[in-house]
Amino acid sequence: MKKIIERLNPHCGFFYDISKVLVRTRSAWQTIELAESPEFGKVLLLDGITQVTQKGEERYHESLVIPAMLSHPAPANVLIVGGGDGGVLREVLRFRTVRKAVMVELDEAVVSFSKQYMPQISDGAFDDPRVEIVIGDGRAYVEQCSEASFDVVLMDMTDPFGPSEKLYTKEFFAQVKRVLRGAEGVFAMHGESPIARPVAYACIEKTLREVFLCVKSAFAFVPMYGTLWSFKFASDTCDCGSLCEDDVTSLLSARSSKTPKYWNAQIYKALFAVEPAAIEALSHPEARIIEDRNPCFPDAFDPKR
Ligand code: SAM
Repeated sequence: MKKIIERLNPHCGFFYDISKVLVRTRSAWQTIELAESPEFGKVLLLDGITQVTQKGEERYHESLVIPAMLSHPAPANVLIVGGGDGGVLREVLRFRTVRKAVMVELDEAVVSFSKQYMPQISDGAFDDPRVEIVIGDGRAYVEQCSEASFDVVLMDMTDPFGPSEKLYTKEFFAQVKRVLRGAEGVFAMHGESPIARPVAYACIEKTLREVFLCVKSAFAFVPMYGTLWSFKFASDTCDCGSLCEDDVTSLLSARSSKTPKYWNAQIYKALFAVEPAAIEALSHPEARIIEDRNPCFPDAFDPKR
């Protein structure tokens, strides 16, 4: 059986079997593949890197979206940067407070491919009347926004390399802050793995702290990424990790039209538990603020070699 082998850093990685590559195509930006795997069901890969799997994707999508959407006092306008498979969009639309969700994705082919071959990820989200899909560079879109019109901005981006590199810099985060409506606006993104890539983890944290007053981290083991993964929640006044279990339960039932598959109040508490590896990562000597003038992460490597 063919194997997908992905490095998590230059010295270790993970693998899973592929019983069949079902579709392979090349867009203007990347190679897009759909594979069948005994472990994860259908898998979407971009340039050979696992993006989303049928089995277990909710651990990632729910953990990224729900804390931001519950902590903001009234999230009505939401911007998603990247997220072409529609999983983040699906999670956003479960919230009754949402009036408008704009998704800016670089590659139209990822959207059409995901709609056709992995429709269970978006679960009809692309047809919701509250949705606007913009095809283009997420950074250019945010820079061109003239008003602070979003309550929540969620970034679901490929790892910092190639076309996504300029979306992990201090300058970009400052632009995100500019388009957030009010000091309670929340920006959420994945934050790499504090165990597999402690330097990248610490760089993202340090860079967010340059721009936002309150930066909180959450952690979950995400099988499709083969390691402990992190999620960042940044705001000037909204503390995304501070709800009590009772408030999480009552806010979720008041705001959400569907029960999450993975997520609940106890998981919320577990997500925001202090992670010793993350504390240790922050004192790594190579960790630095990522800026436009040098957007390359100090621990950059090729996951396919
Ligand atoms: N959850 C996945 C992960 O953490 O690896 C990311 C999945 S999502 C499919 C990532 C999306 O980001 C891709 O569809 C890719 O085309 C998009 N993307 C990459 N660079 C971008 C950019 N500059 N602007 C907007 N979208 C971008």
